[in-house]
Amino acid sequence: MSEKITFAPISYTGWDSLSHLVEEVRRFNVNKILIITDPFLKDIGLTDKVTVPLEEAGYATDVYTEVVPEPPLAVGEKLVAYTRDHQFDMVIGVGGGSALDLTKLAGTIAVHEGNVADYLNLTGTKQIIKKGLPSILIPTTSGTGSEVTNISVLSLETTKDVVTHDYLLADVAIVDPALTMSLPPKVTAATGVDALTHAIESYISKNASPVTDALALQAIRLISQSIRTAVANGDDKQARIDLSYGSYLAGLAFFNAGVAGVHALAYPLGGQFHIAHGDSNAVLLPYVMGYIRQSCEKRMKDIYDAMGFSSTNLSQEEASYRCVDELKRLVEDVGIPSSLKGFNIEEEALSPLTKDAIKQTRILARSPMALLEEDIYGIYRAAFDGE
Ligand code: NAD
Repeated sequence: MSEKITFAPISYTGWDSLSHLVEEVRRFNVNKILIITDPFLKDIGLTDKVTVPLEEAGYATDVYTEVVPEPPLAVGEKLVAYTRDHQFDMVIGVGGGSALDLTKLAGTIAVHEGNVADYLNLTGTKQIIKKGLPSILIPTTSGTGSEVTNISVLSLETTKDVVTHDYLLADVAIVDPALTMSLPPKVTAATGVDALTHAIESYISKNASPVTDALALQAIRLISQSIRTAVANGDDKQARIDLSYGSYLAGLAFFNAGVAGVHALAYPLGGQFHIAHGDSNAVLLPYVMGYIRQSCEKRMKDIYDAMGFSSTNLSQEEASYRCVDELKRLVEDVGIPSSLKGFNIEEEALSPLTKDAIKQTRILARSPMALLEEDIYGIYRAAFDGE
């Protein structure tokens, strides 16, 4: 068996890596740059760390601040229209996954015909056929890994869908943990567990390979050892660095191996209840892993070890049970509700959630255990009861 591995954008990682921004922009023959960010990041001065050096270097910048968390399709359509109308020659995304996903979309769909809706994975009718504007992605959360993936996620009425093509890959990613120091505990927790979920789902994915295993296990180590510290003390520089590398590695892992059941069940939670993506993944992670445990015991034993525990004197089965317990403990320790009730979700919602999750066939196909409608309902039920 062989597999395709993509490590696409040229990446700068580590403390103060943002200092490479201007030299990277100079490699492209550009003048008029659209910076895509959210209003809060502009208000706290984080966006200035990108615009000021570019302006000092003589570039014309326009800061677009209409990004919202978990962006709906309409926000993407408006941004694409803006990008087309103003004839930019580069896009730079500064923010969490929401800003970065919209940046990929803007740069790519702006050079294509039609609307964003025409290119959605589940319902679109048009194909992406060419590379868009040059792009640089600068994450300010340690979570989505969006800076290294070819996916843009959009919220629809009751679920989420993606626009995906290798032409959405950025030219450059700058992953500077210094930009994450201002993250509040709640966002640190949700985005950190999002990254952990990417790593775990990559490791148990049917498409995992030795390359993605290496990335995923190191991501699990770094995130597990530092997430509690980063949530409790956001000023802890080393914990921020660990989460930054962890989310970057997890992004490379899941881009190549894919995510599975947790994400398939999380998308309808985000779509129907507007729960942040990281929280949706976090609340489901222990229950999905508990349900599919038998299909990937050996891999769960490895995850248990990577989380900093020792399975030396344990059977594979025992270690896999403990892995599920430790995942639940971690989610609780970082302050995320560990049941759907904790997000005020009513029992009547479980059937509609199941109906939407089962549509995520591409994602579900990577689960080591086939998840049918009754399985998905059973997982939502367990997550609802918190058992
Ligand atoms: P986000 O971008 O929605 O940001 C969450 C909140 O954190 C916002 O209010 C933002 O203002 C704030 N924030 C961001 N950086 C900050 C900082 N440094 N200091 C203080 N506040 C800060 O959150 P996210 O979890 O990074 O992204 C979620 C989106 O990414 C969802 O739409 C999700 O579906 C998508 N996603 C994409 C991929 C991908 O590969 N493209 C993967 C996973 C998730």
